[in-house]
Amino acid sequence: MIQLYIPLGFLGVIYREIKQSLTDLDKMFTLMEKEREIADEPGALPIRIDASPVVRFENVSFAYEAARPILKNVSFEIPPGKTVAVVGSSGAGKSTLARLLFRFYDVQQGRITIAGQDIKHVTQASVRQAIGIVPQDTVLFNDTVEYNIAYGKPGASREEVEAAARAARIHDFIVSTPLGYNTMVGERGLKLSGGEKQRVAIARTLLKNPPVVIFDEATSALDSANERAIQAELRTAAQNKTTLVIAHRLSTVVDAHEILVMEDGCIVERGTHADLLAMGQKYARMWTLQQSASDF
Ligand code: ADP
Ligand code: MG
Repeated sequence: MIQLYIPLGFLGVIYREIKQSLTDLDKMFTLMEKEREIADEPGALPIRIDASPVVRFENVSFAYEAARPILKNVSFEIPPGKTVAVVGSSGAGKSTLARLLFRFYDVQQGRITIAGQDIKHVTQASVRQAIGIVPQDTVLFNDTVEYNIAYGKPGASREEVEAAARAARIHDFIVSTPLGYNTMVGERGLKLSGGEKQRVAIARTLLKNPPVVIFDEATSALDSANERAIQAELRTAAQNKTTLVIAHRLSTVVDAHEILVMEDGCIVERGTHADLLAMGQKYARMWTLQQSASDF
């Protein structure tokens, strides 16, 4: 009979190391995959854009895998400096809209334009430069808090980083950590909560100050006090910017120029908050449900 004398603690370390490198590899392949999927056209030029461009989705259809269509003929317009909100059940295709606008993937039918230019025909780098994105799950770099915020604007000074962190209400938390802005975060550093990571992403976006902003709100990560605080920050970051908000709490969308209700890759209702309440359909039911839930 073979006896194993390997100390278990040691095994745990090895296991964690292997798991870590697998996650990193996984990320690398995901990135490479994305690079393959969207190559710039030969001779593509950077997008030309002013402070508040119009964003349009024109009859956009998209599938991650050919056999399974995700978005079906989706059209909407975000006028310059306005906010369009997207709501709907999980899996409806909301985050996919955000990924397509950021050009993680190219659409298969229809087109997405910013300031009248099809984002497929301009350089991917210039599109990403024009957009600030606060994703549903922010992945931080294994680097300092300062690096993670300054990533929004390479070469930003400490003062600029701090100002952005204050506006995103994460400054006080950062200075409460032993190394402050030099604290390492990410998988190998200080673990931040979902809400804290989102604030770092908001600070990054405030610093970047892009003409187009995308917010994919975190779902259950935040309690309602934090949720309200974050919403105020999001409003600041979105001011006068052409903004796409994917909202899980309807209280965020009340002031939106237009609200799109998505179901199974299609827009099934659209209008202002008042229009949709008057319609008395899916949105109105969601609103009633969330109102009664927030009474607690
Ligand atoms: P929502 O944000 O509305 O919850 P998503 O846009 O994230 O929905 O996803 C829409 C659908 O696309 C889901 O059914 C999801 O499983 C699928 N999906 C998302 N990402 C991928 C991917 N990378 N590959 C294949 N399918 C995906
Ligand atoms: Mg989503």
